[in-house]
Amino acid sequence: TQQLGARYRVEGATAAQQEAVDVLARQFLLSDERLGEIIKEFRRRMEAGLASDGTMLKMVPSYVVWRPTGEETGAYFAIDLGGTNLRVMRVTLEGNGRATLLHQKFALPEEAKTRTLFDFIAQCVETFLDDHNMRPAATDPHLSFGFTFSYPIDQTSINSGTLIHWTKGLDVPGCVGRDVVRLLEDALLRLGLRVKVAAVVSDTVSTLLSAAYSDPAAQIGVIFGTGTNAAYYEDVTSLAKWKGADPASGEMVVSMEWGAFDSHELATLPFTPHDIKLDRKSLNPREQAYEKMISGMYLGEIARNIVLWLADQRLLLDGRSSTILNAMWALDTSYLSSAAVDDSPDLSAIRQVIEKTLNVPDSTLVDRRIFKIVAILVGERAARLSAVGLVATLTKRAEMLNRPITVAIDGSMYEHYPGFDRIMAETASHFIPESQFKNIRFSLARDGSGIGAGVIAMLATQHQ
Ligand code: BGC
Ligand code: MG
Repeated sequence: TQQLGARYRVEGATAAQQEAVDVLARQFLLSDERLGEIIKEFRRRMEAGLASDGTMLKMVPSYVVWRPTGEETGAYFAIDLGGTNLRVMRVTLEGNGRATLLHQKFALPEEAKTRTLFDFIAQCVETFLDDHNMRPAATDPHLSFGFTFSYPIDQTSINSGTLIHWTKGLDVPGCVGRDVVRLLEDALLRLGLRVKVAAVVSDTVSTLLSAAYSDPAAQIGVIFGTGTNAAYYEDVTSLAKWKGADPASGEMVVSMEWGAFDSHELATLPFTPHDIKLDRKSLNPREQAYEKMISGMYLGEIARNIVLWLADQRLLLDGRSSTILNAMWALDTSYLSSAAVDDSPDLSAIRQVIEKTLNVPDSTLVDRRIFKIVAILVGERAARLSAVGLVATLTKRAEMLNRPITVAIDGSMYEHYPGFDRIMAETASHFIPESQFKNIRFSLARDGSGIGAGVIAMLATQHQ
């Protein structure tokens, strides 16, 4: 068994409380050796996905075969459908790698997530165009949009693709197996909007292309947000399952759909009973197994399961809970972020979360110390596991590491979870030789998924 550090010793805890914390630490701390084995399996699954269809990692060919030069100019429209928000925008490419944005953000209402999604998107497009006086008249040409769609599709051309399944809490019936561009264009047509989708892309692909517009070293785009996934430029000769004509560039961006790693098999990742409980009650049991351990949609829920496990043994909050704490999803991942870095003497941020947000009064300092450790264990495991996909992707085309390479990353976990970026990079550095690791630059690509959709709409239009 692992030697546990002083970090996991809880001052003032009873022997039984300390024992439970030790159990958790043993479940959640992962040795480099263990991570190394997971990386190997991840690499095997990548190869399988490049070779044939219907594999665990879908390795979706994106039909994006171009790289921008940064000198392109013009205004392009984009829709960015994420896990939490929808954004509609106009992206103005200024040349010189610079882009400016005019955008409007809409929270996805429950109704859109379960029923009216495409009509809701069309209405937001209408609002945006009307608010900015840009609605095309009946005699105007169509406006071209890039459509960032952050859910797995089987891409059938640059502007078509069928939904494989929903992830991240979306559950709109009647969409699986259908072309999401058609669904959107039909909804736009119902509103009489003269709008066409020039390209549909994964948020990872658009994040990568937004970075590539200003940085020729950009090779990989990653999202660590509500969900997780990555895309990278692959050599078409390695993309054995590709049946189309080989692009002149010899390369194509592949969206890995890595959140599905270990799905259905649940044989490689370090599942704890708390993960299993989350999975069983989720909308998509046994799917998105990797995503469920590392992305923002799920971490709070894992922590909530742990809190209840402790309370049920009367090792936390004197066994008390509340209606709020009993409800699934009650503990938003953002509360873990603040708990993990609460260094105040009485852990007042944590007290706030337990007593106000979760409505369980009278926490003790020991309760709050334990809560903090739970937040740290869940968050740090996520950051270390994030390095797995990253290392597997970086070493896939190892020759890329002999010169400067940029990994463009966006998402709430990467941007806001304290220490996530540092722990992820530090963990990755254990698996890549120093002489190569120094060539890697991790860069935050804020708004990348929107800007990149504009860049791709431009490239698709140019190459029509
Ligand atoms: C989806 C991916 C997406 C990722 C990040 C996952 O749930 O399956 O398509 O790229 O989330 O948003
Ligand atoms: Mg997003």
